[in-house]
Amino acid sequence: MIDPSAPVHDDIAAQRRPAISFEFFPPKTEEMERNLWNTVTRLAPLDPSFVSVTYGAGGSTRERTHSTIARILSETELRPAAHLTCVGAARGEIDEIVSRYRDIGVRHIVALRGDPPGGIGTVYSTHPEGYRSSADLVAGIKRRHGDIEVSVSAYPEKHPESPDIDADIDVLKAKVDAGATRAITQVFFDNDLYFRYLDRVRARGINIPIVPGIMPMHNFRQARNFVTRAGTTVPSWLAEKFEGLDDDAETRKLVAATVAAGQVQKLAKRGVDAFHFYTMNRADLVFTICHLLGIRPDAARKAA
Ligand code: FAD
Repeated sequence: MIDPSAPVHDDIAAQRRPAISFEFFPPKTEEMERNLWNTVTRLAPLDPSFVSVTYGAGGSTRERTHSTIARILSETELRPAAHLTCVGAARGEIDEIVSRYRDIGVRHIVALRGDPPGGIGTVYSTHPEGYRSSADLVAGIKRRHGDIEVSVSAYPEKHPESPDIDADIDVLKAKVDAGATRAITQVFFDNDLYFRYLDRVRARGINIPIVPGIMPMHNFRQARNFVTRAGTTVPSWLAEKFEGLDDDAETRKLVAATVAAGQVQKLAKRGVDAFHFYTMNRADLVFTICHLLGIRPDAARKAA
């Protein structure tokens, strides 16, 4: 449990409000759409810097990502960022997607290479007429639309396909040289890994914000499988916290909020001033964690 009297909270309260951003995935069904919308409505008053919408593996959600982004733009004051990958499409198609986004008012793309169409662990092959890499995609976007902000991924534990962390940081450097101005990390649970990575990135002359990606574990078992495949280490202390809770969703939720809140509070205490939340389209845990970070709904803050 977090000790509520611990100084960490006071330190955070005394600091500037951290910047936050939320990641959603495009809903598949009407019920999921309603659920996403409830989540957006609950989290919007926390005044995120931006909200991002993922792009399904292999471009499978191309239209749904677009319509989710379009709805956010037309019905809220949030600033949406559209994820986009190089997978399975020619350059012309990708350029067209970006132009369509720009036409409706999107000014932020999260540019990724994407997973191999055969799934994580299979060999990645470039589309014959496609963008060759994430850096190539960043350059393609910036060449055509200088006013679009481009964020990219970063891997504190290295990407599973990467031979070592230095090779991975070379890829990040290429993305920054191509025009990326923010990196969002893959989920991690050990803050020391993040700070060690940050030291290496800075030593390499990369000065853009490296925003920690935070994932509250709504369903530990499921999330563990997913993040492990993506190269994230799940420490044994974390697994122990969820032991015996497979049939106890209520306690799991409280534990998940406590763990993630502890992680962000410790990061904030060491000077981290921006967080990206993988919301899984759920508001409850993220709202609680933001509250513990000292972030209050907009209206309440203004009235205070
Ligand atoms: P890059 O940063 O370009 O590369 C990562 C590493 O992969 C490199 O360091 C290198 O070691 C290796 N690598 C890259 N290209 C090659 C190559 N040609 N040969 C050998 N090794 C290579 N996926 C989606 O499908 N949709 C999303 O919306 C999405 N959003 C994401 C958001 C964030 C914040 C993160 C961290 C990941 C996201 N992903 C998403 C997952 C991502 O697409 C995969 O991790 C993918 O495998 C790598 O794409 P990237 O742009 O991160 O890779």
